[in-house]
Amino acid sequence: TSNDLKTLLSRIDRRGYPAYKDTRGTYQFPGYVLSIDHVQGDPFAAPSKLSIHVDGRQAGFPQNLYRLSCQRIALQDELTRRFGHLAAQASFQAKGSGHSGLISISRCGQEVLERTACRLDPNTGKLVLRLEVGFPANGRTINARELEKILFDLLPRCVEQSLFYRNLNQARLQAVADLAEDQQYIRDMLPQMGLCAFVADGSVLPRASGVSSLPMKNAVPFHSPQELSVTLDLPHRGKITGMGIRRGVTLIVGGGYHGKSTLLKALELGVYNHIAGDGREYVITNESAVKIRSEDGRSIRRTDISMFINDLPNGKDTASFTTEDASGSTSQAANVVEALEAGTSLLLIDEDTSATNFMVRDELMQRVIHRDMEPITPFIDRVRELYEAHGISTILVAGSSGAYFHVADTILQMDRYVPRDITALAKQEASAFPVSAAPLSPAPLPSFDRRPAPSPEFRGDRIKLKSLGRDGVSINRETIDLRYVEQLRDGEQSAALGYAMVYAQQHLMDGRHTLRQIVAELETLLDEKGLESLCGGRSGVSFLARPRAQELFACFNRYQGLQL
Ligand code: ADP
Ligand code: MG
Repeated sequence: TSNDLKTLLSRIDRRGYPAYKDTRGTYQFPGYVLSIDHVQGDPFAAPSKLSIHVDGRQAGFPQNLYRLSCQRIALQDELTRRFGHLAAQASFQAKGSGHSGLISISRCGQEVLERTACRLDPNTGKLVLRLEVGFPANGRTINARELEKILFDLLPRCVEQSLFYRNLNQARLQAVADLAEDQQYIRDMLPQMGLCAFVADGSVLPRASGVSSLPMKNAVPFHSPQELSVTLDLPHRGKITGMGIRRGVTLIVGGGYHGKSTLLKALELGVYNHIAGDGREYVITNESAVKIRSEDGRSIRRTDISMFINDLPNGKDTASFTTEDASGSTSQAANVVEALEAGTSLLLIDEDTSATNFMVRDELMQRVIHRDMEPITPFIDRVRELYEAHGISTILVAGSSGAYFHVADTILQMDRYVPRDITALAKQEASAFPVSAAPLSPAPLPSFDRRPAPSPEFRGDRIKLKSLGRDGVSINRETIDLRYVEQLRDGEQSAALGYAMVYAQQHLMDGRHTLRQIVAELETLLDEKGLESLCGGRSGVSFLARPRAQELFACFNRYQGLQL
């Protein structure tokens, strides 16, 4: 019980730091169980891991708040925020060496993500919340009094006010669950309405600044052009009107600074749900959408990029292309092909971050440099084929070249931050510039049968896994660079990718399964056993957030240690 813990703490006070190890275990507090899952070895080591367990009846959340998994994830997110807010308010500070008294919990951004930080068991209603605490010390001497303040004073207050339904703002929780259900409803409706994205009228797309993802104040609210306006009837909010972007090829043009990239960015992040007040609550994109950009210098491993690149002057095989240092165009070609492997049905491309020679080749250049002399088949020559033969839509921002007018189904102009449908006008103008190039023969999709083999390094459990924030992870001292995987939002997602790489090496790779099968198995594991299952065997559960399958692929594909 908690009294045992109190006695234990007074016994080990002022002893050497390793005596803290004795605190490992579970303790019954009024209304919840505190579990000390992992104790750090010294004051400077990674902080200790704790979890709080509240059984279903005590927690008391009614099932209608978490019946759907989107509701459950939103509720978990809300409770994490609430707990974090209370802990921050308490602004507890213990003095001492190393991480003494440092309390950390997941920091949630604008997106609602599934996290190990908080889990509500869908069957029993049992609640688990995780946190890390730097166990306090002076030098290397235990300061148990400070830990006692945290565990017996601060934590009980935070738990009391954040994990029991009876003490929470119930209308607010209902609103959280309702929003999640409405967002899911839109996402589910997209395919049957023939849409790949929806942007509600009144949405606020721009952010406060380059470093803040809060909504911009006094922004021009989004307003749909009449031609693309659709109305949905949401289960809770009722009727909502906005722009439905139809499947096919959509081109976004407009003068510089008129809001093209801002719209595309919002669509990229529309694969996630956003919290109330964000401005993008009802910007919903097909969940398989992948942002494609050029990524100079990335590594490519045995990827079939021959639908875009052929007959390189150095004779390299582009049906199984490998490089440690890709060029702009080859990296962008690989990014497209890998997105297809990841099963995307929507590509999102911004000219600002594209390799020009991958996107277009102008008429004059085609006359001077014959097609036979050009290894690159630009994206413009494949974009219709991707849609017509494979059902993969593209939304493309291109303000500087009219070449895509010919191949687009819909052309939007951003005009002072408001979109206008200029399809008819642009098509008419384009007809005066006929395309001369002979049609290409279609390229079959690559076979996607890369079968990674397990690496001997992963036998046993001496694997060094280090999280490098949002931008990467390091596995056995090898860094996987995730900087340009733009739809990755959170350092905890990157951390989860690192764990997933290790898990796959240890459990799923046998040289017989394709990458697609391995990612499918990871997805099943995460669906059925939760994110925690990636941490098996390690000391306690780390803070992880769930990445999409598309980002799992992106990570595998940038991992040079993978034996392909
Ligand atoms: P483009 O890609 O067309 O050059 P951007 O999308 O980069 O333009 O937008 C240019 C600037 O306008 C950015 O600073 C952005 O924050 C701001 N902006 C975008 N949309 C809006 C809006 N709806 N209201 C006010 N400012 C906006
Ligand atoms: Mg731009």
